[in-house]
Amino acid sequence: MKTLRNYIGGEWVAPSSAEYLDLTNPATGEQLGKVPLSGVRDVDAAVAAAQAAYLKWREVPPVVRARYLFKLKFLMEEQFEDLAATVTRENGKTLAEARGSVRRGIENVEHACGIPTLMMGKTLEDVAAGIDCEYVRQPLGVFAAITPFNFPAMVPCWFWPYAIATGNTFILKPSEQVPFSPTRIIELAHEAGIPAGVLNLVHGAKDVVNALLAHPGISGLSFVGSSPVAKYVYQEDGKYGKRVQALGGAKNHVIVMPDADMDRAVANISESLFGCAGQRCLAGSVVVAAGKAYEPFRERLLSAAKDLRLGYGLEPGVTMGPVVSAKHKEKVLSYVEAGRKDGATLLLDGRATKVEKHPRGHFVGPTVFDGVQPDMTIGKEEIFGPVASVTHVSNLDEGIELVHRSGFANATSIFTQSGKAAREFRYRVGVSMIGVNIGVAAPMAFFPFGGTKGSFFGDLKAHGQDSIEFYTDKKVVISRW
Ligand code: NAD
Repeated sequence: MKTLRNYIGGEWVAPSSAEYLDLTNPATGEQLGKVPLSGVRDVDAAVAAAQAAYLKWREVPPVVRARYLFKLKFLMEEQFEDLAATVTRENGKTLAEARGSVRRGIENVEHACGIPTLMMGKTLEDVAAGIDCEYVRQPLGVFAAITPFNFPAMVPCWFWPYAIATGNTFILKPSEQVPFSPTRIIELAHEAGIPAGVLNLVHGAKDVVNALLAHPGISGLSFVGSSPVAKYVYQEDGKYGKRVQALGGAKNHVIVMPDADMDRAVANISESLFGCAGQRCLAGSVVVAAGKAYEPFRERLLSAAKDLRLGYGLEPGVTMGPVVSAKHKEKVLSYVEAGRKDGATLLLDGRATKVEKHPRGHFVGPTVFDGVQPDMTIGKEEIFGPVASVTHVSNLDEGIELVHRSGFANATSIFTQSGKAAREFRYRVGVSMIGVNIGVAAPMAFFPFGGTKGSFFGDLKAHGQDSIEFYTDKKVVISRW
């Protein structure tokens, strides 16, 4: 049992309020510890520490700032297994999935180590006779990020490595449901010698978010979470005139063409639908099978789903973990009920699935619907659990039309052996992250990450060159001597 503290100005401090949230392991029910529900005073203290550190930190040469990140990368590699196990214990995903997510987190630290070149400006001589023009990138001050429960180690790493590498200082507000992995990474950042006040951590929920939004000392904010909160954060931050990028929820469609390599398609799509118990913003949700692909795909998907082994992700042989909490399980089950009431056919029902060894775990077995229409609740809303639907269209045009009916546009994939169909799909489809024979189209650290429509509010996306743009101002200097 661990009682967490905030990390402000290089020290671990108790929150101003005495309110805490108890946390348990979602697979076993074992008590993990308590996280503080901090308030306005804690945010004020973190902003003051970050502002005080900023003036010195921005003067540290980028190459020296990068060296702190090299050191941190080394420490994260050393603690790799411990970090992955912490993710599994608090979030429920399997150890293999947790390892993958920690690796993706580290890759962002690695990418930010390239800041001396990533941050360079540009120059043009003689914009008029004898006049030169250049732009340099400068940091803007204090940034903050608010992150979700589904990737406790990885998603925070989409932001703070770039923010501090570019010379800003930072406050992280991780999900109150999974605070242990981000805390462990901040401990490692402390060990790497990142100076006091450069990177701060304030635990909590809604109150901390509202205090960060309203605080005049914060220049910009990144958010990742559900669409209603993403939209709220975007609108509120806009009111205060701050920079904002808000990544929201998803309802991802996967198209299977009749010429797809069925073995690969089924294995990949099953992983996309049920991996991380469906709690990925890139998870497939609706499989759109075209023409003759429908019958064979549906049967083989059902068989792959039945082969999954539910359990505690730290135990060998487990291929699917629980959902994150009892409350979230209720929400997922209510969607299954809504699907049934709306007239969809339940081909595989995971509601009663139990894991004998762990009766207190929040397990939901893989669940598959057929006959889901786009205007049904389960056809249009994000479920964020291991609940998939299979639907039938005649051809690619109809498939793309179905994708475009969704209010979300985070990710989509096509499975085909036709270059023409793949090209047509990637060219026409209005979704931001596209997989061609890939079930989870996750851009790596050096590419932009984020959707459009109801899945993203803002313009500059997470990581890649976009994050350098987000965290810096381009200052233009025009000179004549
Ligand atoms: P959530 O919106 O409930 O919470 C996200 C963060 O917002 C948390 O830190 C939480 O404390 C805070 N928050 C929650 N309610 C709030 C409110 N009313 N006011 C202010 N702050 C609030 O999301 P979640 O359940 O933690 O995460 C799952 C969601 O995140 C899914 O919708 C998923 O698709 C999305 N997600 C999106 C991406 C992406 O790249 N687009 C990546 C990961 C997760």
